[in-house]
Amino acid sequence: MLLFSTDIDGTIYDGPESAEAFAEFWLSKPEAVLVYNTGRSVDDTRQLIDSTPLPLPRFITGGVGTEIFDCQTGERLSAWKTELSSGWDFAKIDSLVGRYADDIERQPEECQNDFKCSWFWNNRSQEDIAALAARLIEAGFNAQVVYSSSRDLDVIPSVANKGNAITWLAARLGIPLEEIVVAGDSGNDSSMFQLEGARGIIPANAEDALRHAPKKTLIFESTGRCSAGIIEGINYFTTTKQ
Ligand SMILES: [Mg+2]
Repeated sequence: MLLFSTDIDGTIYDGPESAEAFAEFWLSKPEAVLVYNTGRSVDDTRQLIDSTPLPLPRFITGGVGTEIFDCQTGERLSAWKTELSSGWDFAKIDSLVGRYADDIERQPEECQNDFKCSWFWNNRSQEDIAALAARLIEAGFNAQVVYSSSRDLDVIPSVANKGNAITWLAARLGIPLEEIVVAGDSGNDSSMFQLEGARGIIPANAEDALRHAPKKTLIFESTGRCSAGIIEGINYFTTTKQ
């Protein structure tokens, strides 16, 4: 394992104890590039790291793959923004989604970024989500809809997702997919499990949306919850030849 790409909430963090357990484990591991790949914004993630035992990663992929932050240089990678720009217009998409349904509610400003337009839309079916996605494509945008926790709706560029962000980053770092381990617990993590040749860890508390999603990685389903399950998975993949 040369790179570990992990979601935060529900995966390595559900309170100080889980963060502490992960930190203790990670700091004892042979060196690998640690990437937090989260729906949280980069700024929010940095605040979380500062206020919990979570170890400092090398990179933060924030806002479901819409921003990549280098923790060593303190900069967002502008080459990734260029990748996301084609067919994307935040203002127009924001306006279209806002008018789309009465019960759709915009998330606070700190949840938005140039390439992520985020809303609350409670208890919608896969058909509802697909219909909104089709409407955006019809309007000419290269946009996709990611729905998590039966509530969080993110409209992001078609190429932006956690999986593509990590694939792009790994290529830049010269790390082959076979040397990557990913971990996540919910629907917006499923793109990470599309990395062919990589290995994936699913903790016991994972949502059905992720369990039932199609996957191309080898999978380890942990018996432990949250960070306990992640530690179990990393140990499995790094001590057995997979
Ligand atoms: Mg999560």
